[in-house]
Amino acid sequence: MSSDTTIVWLRNDLRLEDNPALYYASKFAKKNNSKISIIYILENFNLLSTDLGSASKWWLHNSLKKFNENFSKHLIQKTDFDINLFKGNPEEIFSDLIKKIKINGIFWNRRYEEKCLERDKQLKSKFKALNINVQTYNGKLLVEPWNIKGKQNQSLKVFTPYKNSLLGNHLIPECLPVTKIKHHLKISSSLKLSELNLISNNWMKKFEDIWNVGEKEALMKLEKFISNSVDDYDQDRNFLFKNGTSKLSPHLHFGEISPVKIWNMTCGNKSYEEISNGRKVFLSEIIWREFAVNLMFLYPNLDKKNIKENFDHFKWNDSEENFRAWTEGNTGYPVVDAAMKELWNTGWMHNRARMITASFLTKHLLLPWQWGANWFHDTLLDSDFASNYASWQWVAGCGADAAPYFRIFNPLTQSLKFDPLGKYIKKYIPELENLGPKEIHSPTNNFYKPMIVEHKFARERALNTYALLRKFNS
Ligand SMILES: Cc1cc2nc3c(=O)[nH]c(=O)nc-3n(C[C@H](O)[C@H](O)[C@H](O)COP(=O)(O)OP(=O)(O)OC[C@H]3O[C@@H](n4cnc5c(N)ncnc54)[C@H](O)[C@@H]3O)c2cc1C
Repeated sequence: MSSDTTIVWLRNDLRLEDNPALYYASKFAKKNNSKISIIYILENFNLLSTDLGSASKWWLHNSLKKFNENFSKHLIQKTDFDINLFKGNPEEIFSDLIKKIKINGIFWNRRYEEKCLERDKQLKSKFKALNINVQTYNGKLLVEPWNIKGKQNQSLKVFTPYKNSLLGNHLIPECLPVTKIKHHLKISSSLKLSELNLISNNWMKKFEDIWNVGEKEALMKLEKFISNSVDDYDQDRNFLFKNGTSKLSPHLHFGEISPVKIWNMTCGNKSYEEISNGRKVFLSEIIWREFAVNLMFLYPNLDKKNIKENFDHFKWNDSEENFRAWTEGNTGYPVVDAAMKELWNTGWMHNRARMITASFLTKHLLLPWQWGANWFHDTLLDSDFASNYASWQWVAGCGADAAPYFRIFNPLTQSLKFDPLGKYIKKYIPELENLGPKEIHSPTNNFYKPMIVEHKFARERALNTYALLRKFNS
């Protein structure tokens, strides 16, 4: 046995199956007779503009724990199986490791935030100069954004051409299998999970009863969804009270399951053209996730800057009081309040509800989309820089391929259409339990708090504010 070590640097890819960095590192280690050492670094994400939200920290803690348990079962020599945890700047951590152990290779799956890409490029050349074999892979997407182009080889900023190009020009690969690893190196300077300090407040405790984290759970969830729901996905996915969607978003965000695995399992032994409409619509959502990464790649400041620059002139309000009412589910609109309570109580929100609440904040309250996006980022377990900020810009009207600003959701109509019996509302606002389907969507003040803004007034105000933008080109 040589004393060389091959490092696998885990990032948002906390799984064993279909993990290219892990798979190819283990092949490399076998060939070179070296040990594998798996590391995870809790980075200072502020520097990368993708700071971890509070809810995400809870998920990450549990996901690392589950990865470790699962990994230990796949290790042939059952010693030193704890993966190595670090906190801080990867450059400094690697410099230190290189001094302490003889590293022959470093393998990781790519991330797509601009600052991550730049940083990774620098690290790569540094390692190469030290004669360390560096290999990086696509472990997050079906197809990486720079490989999806239009007919004139241009980048695509509209969803449908993006999807068509992905479907028309790319084959989705098979999944890579789980590999057994013989020797794992535990690095003495690595930290205990508790030392990452990811679990910090009582609010997080409630997630324990609701969510099962980890690769195994993600796979079970997907299998169940495919057996029971996917073929009706196109019909059911918008109903707030139905379990019509997969709830795989946090698993996907932390890489507990890969989109390639989801694609292959959803298609089964059929080609994409042969699967049901429900399955096609579901896979289309997986492509929305890819499209969001593409937007982040094209617009790295997606979290702060309007994609449509004419929105820089938009006159937003700054009422902290209204913002608080929105976050607490105290707007007086039952469907908006139920959705905000779903978020606070479960760390997740139905996609339709995300659209309703985001529209309410930006159009009814005229509050800046960044306020709402940052609140979602902090409280969603699936918070994802690309999907969250791209979706907020889409709803607000300033995003690429955005819903037009004048499309202002009427919360009452949305409620009647997507929660006709008020089941969703009753689940999160039990004080409305006794109201019937006629009153529950818009109860009188005897039963519920008054609306903080009246719909007709808010709609006209939003349209007038928007009209002021017309003189600026987008
Ligand atoms: C304002 C707003 C904020 C959002 N913030 C996030 C976020 O932080 N993280 C996040 O993962 N999704 C976000 N979404 C997209 C979407 O709401 C969630 O992905 C979806 O609700 C997750 O539930 P699910 O796993 O049951 O989805 P399913 O309907 O089962 O879809 C399967 C997967 O496809 C992806 N997906 C579905 N819809 C979208 C979409 N519109 N855009 C991008 N990917 C999508 C997700 O990875 C999802 O898990 C946001 C949407 C809006 C309108």
